[in-house]
Amino acid sequence: MLMKRRREQTRELDLTAELRKEVRGEVRDDADTLRTYSRDASLFEVRPRVVVSPADTADLSALVAFASKHAGDVSLTPRSGGTDMTGGPLSSSIVVDMTAHLNHLKKVGDGWAMVEPGMYYRYFEVETLKRKLLLPTYPASRGICTVGGMVGNNAGGEKSLTYGQTGNFVSALRVVLSDAKEYLVQPLDREALSQKESLKGLEGKIYRDIRALCERSADVLRKAKPTVTKNSAGYDLWRVWDGTTFDLTKLLVGSQGTLGIITEIRFRLIPVKEHARQLVISLFDIRALTAVVSAVLRHHPESFEVYDDVTYRLARRCNGILAKQLGIHGRASAWWLFRRELLTYLSRRVPRLTFLVEFTGDDTHALDSAVAAAHAELRTLPVSLRDVQKEGDMRKERLIRRESYNLLRQQVPGKRAAPFIDDITVAADRLATFLPQLETILTPYHLSYTLAGHAGDGNFHIIPLMDLGDERQRQALPEITDRVYDLVFRFNGSMTGEHNDGLLRSPYLKEMYGKDVYALFEEVKKIFDPKGIFNPGKKVGASAAYAWKHVWA
Ligand SMILES: Cc1cc2nc3c(=O)[nH]c(=O)nc-3n(C[C@H](O)[C@H](O)[C@H](O)COP(=O)(O)OP(=O)(O)OC[C@H]3O[C@@H](n4cnc5c(N)ncnc54)[C@H](O)[C@@H]3O)c2cc1C
Repeated sequence: MLMKRRREQTRELDLTAELRKEVRGEVRDDADTLRTYSRDASLFEVRPRVVVSPADTADLSALVAFASKHAGDVSLTPRSGGTDMTGGPLSSSIVVDMTAHLNHLKKVGDGWAMVEPGMYYRYFEVETLKRKLLLPTYPASRGICTVGGMVGNNAGGEKSLTYGQTGNFVSALRVVLSDAKEYLVQPLDREALSQKESLKGLEGKIYRDIRALCERSADVLRKAKPTVTKNSAGYDLWRVWDGTTFDLTKLLVGSQGTLGIITEIRFRLIPVKEHARQLVISLFDIRALTAVVSAVLRHHPESFEVYDDVTYRLARRCNGILAKQLGIHGRASAWWLFRRELLTYLSRRVPRLTFLVEFTGDDTHALDSAVAAAHAELRTLPVSLRDVQKEGDMRKERLIRRESYNLLRQQVPGKRAAPFIDDITVAADRLATFLPQLETILTPYHLSYTLAGHAGDGNFHIIPLMDLGDERQRQALPEITDRVYDLVFRFNGSMTGEHNDGLLRSPYLKEMYGKDVYALFEEVKKIFDPKGIFNPGKKVGASAAYAWKHVWA
């Protein structure tokens, strides 16, 4: 009753007008803006009431104070590039756009960079490369996403086989928490942790309560940990406290804006390797999959990516678009660049799977030996092999893999690329048993789908092409999701290696980790955000019914 009255009061008080009094940045509720912000790259559509672009951190604090005052009615959902595939940055209340003003690079130092979350990764990389430094966890969406979104999702990419996910490269964060104050969060030793715990107010409480939670739940957490090398599901309680270092950044990374809003990131960067070589493996007989994966992993490449025959054909068809991205214009030049794909297509010998195995290093002799050793072992398997050495050729191969989802989204008329089982991960050595069982689940639905991803991590992006205007296909979504995730959980895998939970997967967290770990996630949320003002309905308190109701046709 009280909640209802408060909601009516806030509606009466004209949210847009009130917010304009609170912040200096833009406050927009025109139809075009609301339409734009009602979608990300997921299946879902949720219309916000208003979109605010805070001018600075002071604006952000004012917003949080406002949301706290009107808790129960309004909430804040941060949004950066809006390329999330889970509905993470969607909200029916206030969307906080981080890209308009909070987008500056503060400094690039020797092996590190300090940057605001709204900076697009493509601009960030230009600056780090000037110093021959790289953030190696960039996702395939590197041209359209921001560094803040990469932290929000704990994104990964083609180099994650070697370097892991974005969280591994976050050395400190500034974040506005639910008391509207900005805090610096970084790894602490025991003494620094005790000092934090002695503080009054929200900050002290968070350190005390999260440490206690980690210590009393160590057993429960250990038993529920999936056996995978990549995982973005839930809150990463596993890496917060090892008894020596207490690192709250691990909890904030990948939390999708549900615990606070990040205002600054300090990244660790790696030196760019001077040289690269690629082996392209064409696999025609899926039964050789395990042998190929094991053989490649024994040679420790920097990356090990895969895409399927559907992606191959799509790349051939869209050769003009891809060629343009490589700076090559004109139809004839595009055909020439993609002549191999054309000839393969015409000869009807398109490989079922194509693997890109990349080795990098500063010493060309060591690199040559590594490639030669891998080549020699792979030659004994029923595959075709190509050794790619020219940078231009390697860029082309990488682009086909990176653009697989974008091409599907934009270039298949009459069908929609439907990401809902898009990021499943199982241990790489179990793929040969897992993939046929997955196929058994999908076959009765007669879906065409593409498969691409990170073979070395057993992380596959499976994207069906569907007509979501067809009621039967819409109804199949929850059914397929239930069955596929159930299979993934039986393999002790993760339903998301890197794309995170959002509206799509949060409802399955209890099933993935069990009710005890899910209860810990609820506790974490309560400790950080007792009034539930940050991105509600993600991670905890999610509803599958709500999600499926918001699929757009
Ligand atoms: C074609 C395509 C390819 C993709 N490939 C990959 C891939 O290879 N690997 C991968 O990991 N993902 C991939 N994605 C998903 C997505 O692009 C990435 O996860 C990306 O890092 C999201 O960045 P963004 O700036 O778009 O974030 P957004 O979509 O704006 O936000 C992502 C999440 O972070 C939260 N958030 C944003 N800013 C903040 C902040 N300042 N503080 C707290 N929380 C915040 C949001 O609320 C949201 O929940 C792909 C998407 C597309 C469309």
